[in-house]
Amino acid sequence: MTAIYDRVFDELLDEAVAFHGHLCPGQVLGVRMTVAGCRALGVAHPRQAGKRLAVFVEIDRCATDAIQALTGVSLGKRTLKHVDYGKTAATFVDTVTRHAVRVVARDDARELAGSVTPGERDARRAQTIAYRTLPEDRLLRLERVTVDPGWLDRRRVRVFCAKCGEGVNYEREVRASARVLCRACAGESYYVVCDPAVAESMTAVIASRPPVAHAAGDDHSRST
Ligand SMILES: [Zn+2]
Ligand SMILES: [Zn+2]
Repeated sequence: MTAIYDRVFDELLDEAVAFHGHLCPGQVLGVRMTVAGCRALGVAHPRQAGKRLAVFVEIDRCATDAIQALTGVSLGKRTLKHVDYGKTAATFVDTVTRHAVRVVARDDARELAGSVTPGERDARRAQTIAYRTLPEDRLLRLERVTVDPGWLDRRRVRVFCAKCGEGVNYEREVRASARVLCRACAGESYYVVCDPAVAESMTAVIASRPPVAHAAGDDHSRST
Protein backbone atom coordinates (compact mmCIF):
# COMPACT_ATOMS: atom_id res chain seq x y z
CA MET A 1 0.00 0.00 0.00
CA THR A 2 1.33 3.43 -0.95
CA ALA A 3 2.21 5.76 1.90
CA ILE A 4 -0.07 8.80 2.14
CA TYR A 5 2.83 11.13 1.39
CA ASP A 6 3.59 9.24 -1.85
CA ARG A 7 0.04 9.13 -3.13
CA VAL A 8 -1.24 11.16 -6.07
CA PHE A 9 -2.35 14.57 -4.80
CA ASP A 10 -5.59 14.62 -6.80
CA GLU A 11 -6.71 11.29 -5.35
CA LEU A 12 -6.26 12.63 -1.84
CA LEU A 13 -8.02 15.85 -2.78
CA ASP A 14 -10.96 13.90 -4.25
CA GLU A 15 -11.36 11.99 -0.98
CA ALA A 16 -11.28 15.21 1.01
CA VAL A 17 -13.81 16.90 -1.29
CA ALA A 18 -16.15 13.89 -1.14
CA PHE A 19 -16.18 14.13 2.66
CA HIS A 20 -16.36 17.93 2.87
CA GLY A 21 -18.89 18.50 0.08
CA HIS A 22 -17.07 21.02 -2.09
CA LEU A 23 -13.69 21.96 -3.49
CA CYS A 24 -12.24 24.99 -1.75
CA PRO A 25 -8.82 26.40 -0.84
CA GLY A 26 -9.27 24.83 2.60
CA GLN A 27 -9.41 21.32 1.13
CA VAL A 28 -6.17 21.83 -0.76
CA LEU A 29 -4.54 23.30 2.33
CA GLY A 30 -5.87 20.52 4.55
CA VAL A 31 -4.47 17.84 2.22
CA ARG A 32 -1.07 19.54 2.19
CA MET A 33 -1.13 19.83 6.01
CA THR A 34 -2.06 16.16 6.40
CA VAL A 35 0.62 14.94 4.00
CA ALA A 36 3.27 17.10 5.68
CA GLY A 37 2.23 16.08 9.19
CA CYS A 38 2.10 12.36 8.42
CA ARG A 39 5.44 12.43 6.61
CA ALA A 40 7.17 14.33 9.43
CA LEU A 41 5.74 11.94 11.98
CA GLY A 42 6.48 8.83 9.91
CA VAL A 43 2.84 7.73 9.73
CA ALA A 44 2.51 6.12 6.31
CA HIS A 45 -1.05 4.83 6.68
CA PRO A 46 -2.97 7.10 9.02
CA ARG A 47 -6.32 5.37 8.48
CA GLN A 48 -4.79 2.10 9.66
CA ALA A 49 -3.17 3.76 12.68
CA GLY A 50 -6.29 3.39 14.82
CA LYS A 51 -5.91 5.16 18.14
CA ARG A 52 -2.19 5.53 17.65
CA LEU A 53 -2.60 8.75 15.67
CA ALA A 54 -4.26 11.72 17.31
CA VAL A 55 -4.67 15.15 15.74
CA PHE A 56 -5.27 18.40 17.56
CA VAL A 57 -6.89 20.93 15.24
CA GLU A 58 -6.87 24.59 16.22
CA ILE A 59 -9.74 25.78 14.05
CA ASP A 60 -13.14 24.49 12.93
CA ARG A 61 -12.89 25.34 9.25
CA CYS A 62 -12.67 23.65 5.86
CA ALA A 63 -9.10 22.35 6.27
CA THR A 64 -10.13 20.46 9.39
CA ASP A 65 -12.47 18.29 7.34
CA ALA A 66 -9.67 17.35 4.95
CA ILE A 67 -7.52 16.26 7.88
CA GLN A 68 -10.37 14.17 9.25
CA ALA A 69 -11.20 12.63 5.86
CA LEU A 70 -7.64 11.55 5.09
CA THR A 71 -6.56 10.35 8.53
CA GLY A 72 -9.82 8.88 9.83
CA VAL A 73 -9.45 10.65 13.17
CA SER A 74 -12.76 11.59 14.77
CA LEU A 75 -14.18 13.24 17.85
CA GLY A 76 -16.09 10.07 18.71
CA LYS A 77 -12.96 7.95 18.67
CA ARG A 78 -11.27 10.65 20.73
CA THR A 79 -8.47 10.82 18.15
CA LEU A 80 -9.53 14.27 16.93
CA LYS A 81 -9.31 17.14 19.40
CA HIS A 82 -10.60 20.61 18.64
CA VAL A 83 -8.68 23.20 20.60
CA ASP A 84 -10.33 26.46 19.67
CA TYR A 85 -7.41 28.82 19.03
CA GLY A 86 -8.74 30.17 15.75
CA LYS A 87 -5.49 29.27 13.98
CA THR A 88 -5.04 27.24 10.81
CA ALA A 89 -2.76 24.76 12.53
CA ALA A 90 -2.86 21.11 13.55
CA THR A 91 -0.65 18.91 15.69
CA PHE A 92 -0.18 15.29 14.64
CA VAL A 93 0.71 13.02 17.55
CA ASP A 94 1.97 9.43 17.64
CA THR A 95 0.41 8.44 20.95
CA VAL A 96 2.80 5.48 21.38
CA THR A 97 6.15 7.22 20.83
CA ARG A 98 4.68 10.58 21.94
CA HIS A 99 6.42 12.27 19.02
CA ALA A 100 4.40 15.22 17.79
CA VAL A 101 4.59 17.67 14.91
CA ARG A 102 2.68 20.92 14.74
CA VAL A 103 1.84 22.04 11.21
CA VAL A 104 0.99 25.72 10.76
CA ALA A 105 -0.35 27.31 7.59
CA ARG A 106 1.86 30.31 6.94
CA ASP A 107 -0.04 33.58 7.02
CA ASP A 108 2.08 34.98 4.19
CA ALA A 109 1.04 32.12 1.87
CA ARG A 110 -2.33 33.84 1.41
CA GLU A 111 -0.61 36.98 0.14
CA LEU A 112 1.71 34.92 -2.04
CA ALA A 113 -1.30 33.50 -3.87
CA GLY A 114 -1.55 36.61 -6.06
CA SER A 115 2.07 36.45 -7.19
CA VAL A 116 1.89 32.71 -7.94
CA THR A 117 -1.11 33.18 -10.21
CA PRO A 118 -0.83 36.53 -11.95
CA GLY A 119 -3.89 37.29 -14.02
CA GLU A 120 -6.22 35.12 -11.93
CA ARG A 121 -8.93 37.53 -10.81
CA ASP A 122 -10.87 35.10 -8.64
CA ALA A 123 -9.20 35.17 -5.23
CA ARG A 124 -10.48 31.72 -4.25
CA ARG A 125 -9.21 30.16 -7.45
CA ALA A 126 -5.87 31.91 -7.01
CA GLN A 127 -5.64 30.56 -3.48
CA THR A 128 -6.60 27.05 -4.55
CA ILE A 129 -3.90 27.03 -7.25
CA ALA A 130 -1.29 28.58 -4.95
CA TYR A 131 -1.95 26.13 -2.12
CA ARG A 132 -1.44 23.27 -4.60
CA THR A 133 1.75 24.54 -6.12
CA LEU A 134 3.67 26.44 -3.43
CA PRO A 135 6.69 24.54 -2.12
CA GLU A 136 5.96 23.06 1.28
CA ASP A 137 8.22 25.46 3.18
CA ARG A 138 6.49 28.48 1.61
CA LEU A 139 3.04 27.16 2.50
CA LEU A 140 3.59 25.53 5.88
CA ARG A 141 5.75 25.77 8.93
CA LEU A 142 6.46 22.57 10.86
CA GLU A 143 7.74 22.34 14.39
CA ARG A 144 8.50 19.51 16.77
CA VAL A 145 6.41 19.83 19.90
CA THR A 146 5.56 17.79 22.96
CA VAL A 147 1.94 17.52 23.97
CA ASP A 148 1.03 17.80 27.63
CA PRO A 149 0.23 14.19 28.71
CA GLY A 150 -2.96 15.46 30.36
CA TRP A 151 -4.42 15.96 26.87
CA LEU A 152 -3.72 12.37 25.85
CA ASP A 153 -4.21 10.33 29.00
CA ARG A 154 -7.47 11.51 30.41
CA ARG A 155 -8.64 9.12 33.06
CA ARG A 156 -12.14 7.72 32.73
CA VAL A 157 -13.58 9.38 35.77
CA ARG A 158 -16.93 11.02 36.23
CA VAL A 159 -17.80 13.63 38.81
CA PHE A 160 -20.86 15.80 39.34
CA CYS A 161 -20.95 19.58 39.26
CA ALA A 162 -21.78 21.06 42.68
CA LYS A 163 -23.87 23.79 41.03
CA CYS A 164 -25.85 22.29 38.11
CA GLY A 165 -25.55 18.63 39.08
CA GLU A 166 -24.59 17.47 35.58
CA GLY A 167 -21.99 14.74 35.19
CA VAL A 168 -18.52 15.70 33.95
CA ASN A 169 -16.25 13.08 32.35
CA TYR A 170 -12.52 12.84 31.72
CA GLU A 171 -11.34 15.28 34.37
CA ARG A 172 -12.78 18.28 32.60
CA GLU A 173 -14.11 19.68 35.86
CA VAL A 174 -12.75 22.77 37.58
CA ARG A 175 -11.83 22.65 41.24
CA ALA A 176 -12.28 26.01 42.88
CA SER A 177 -12.10 26.54 46.66
CA ALA A 178 -12.89 22.89 47.46
CA ARG A 179 -15.88 22.87 45.10
CA VAL A 180 -16.11 20.73 41.99
CA LEU A 181 -17.71 22.65 39.12
CA CYS A 182 -18.31 22.01 35.44
CA ARG A 183 -16.58 24.47 33.15
CA ALA A 184 -19.88 26.16 32.37
CA CYS A 185 -20.66 26.84 36.01
CA ALA A 186 -17.05 27.90 36.61
CA GLY A 187 -17.60 30.84 34.25
CA GLU A 188 -16.40 29.37 30.94
CA SER A 189 -19.86 28.77 29.53
CA TYR A 190 -20.57 29.24 25.82
CA TYR A 191 -24.33 29.38 26.50
CA VAL A 192 -26.76 31.12 28.82
CA VAL A 193 -29.96 29.40 29.89
CA CYS A 194 -32.66 31.88 28.81
CA ASP A 195 -35.11 31.15 31.58
CA PRO A 196 -34.83 27.99 33.70
CA ALA A 197 -38.63 27.79 33.96
CA VAL A 198 -38.98 27.80 30.15
CA ALA A 199 -36.28 25.15 29.80
CA GLU A 200 -38.16 22.89 32.18
CA SER A 201 -41.46 23.29 30.36
CA MET A 202 -39.74 22.53 27.03
CA THR A 203 -38.55 19.21 28.42
CA ALA A 204 -42.07 18.50 29.67
CA VAL A 205 -43.62 19.20 26.25
CA ILE A 206 -41.14 16.97 24.44
CA ALA A 207 -41.56 14.15 26.96
CA SER A 208 -45.35 14.17 26.67
CA ARG A 209 -45.26 13.81 22.87
CA PRO A 210 -45.01 10.22 21.63
CA PRO A 211 -42.39 9.42 19.01
CA VAL A 212 -43.70 9.90 15.46
CA ALA A 213 -44.58 6.57 13.91
CA HIS A 214 -45.04 6.27 10.16
CA ALA A 215 -48.08 4.37 9.00
CA ALA A 216 -47.38 1.27 6.91
CA GLY A 217 -47.06 2.09 3.21
CA ASP A 218 -46.05 5.69 3.86
CA ASP A 219 -44.31 6.95 0.79
CA HIS A 220 -41.49 9.21 1.99
CA SER A 221 -40.38 10.14 -1.51
CA ARG A 222 -43.73 11.72 -2.23
CA SER A 223 -43.65 14.03 0.78
CA THR A 224 -40.20 15.42 0.05
ZN1 LIG B 1 -14.75 24.33 2.23
ZN1 LIG C 1 -22.32 22.90 36.37
